[in-house]
Amino acid sequence: MPPKKPEPARPRAEPRCPHCSARDAEVISLFGTQAMTLQYRCRKCATVFEAIKYD
Ligand SMILES: [Zn+2]
Repeated sequence: MPPKKPEPARPRAEPRCPHCSARDAEVISLFGTQAMTLQYRCRKCATVFEAIKYD
């Protein structure tokens, strides 16, 4: 992946935790395992998951 100018993390909506369905997650990484994903950690159950970054 070529280094590009990083863009500010502005997720369009709070992602839903796949474990407890809470919409209370914080971004822990701007880069997931794929280019279009962000890594989040649920504040309720501490599950780390990825969600698609829009636009
Ligand atoms: Zn959760």
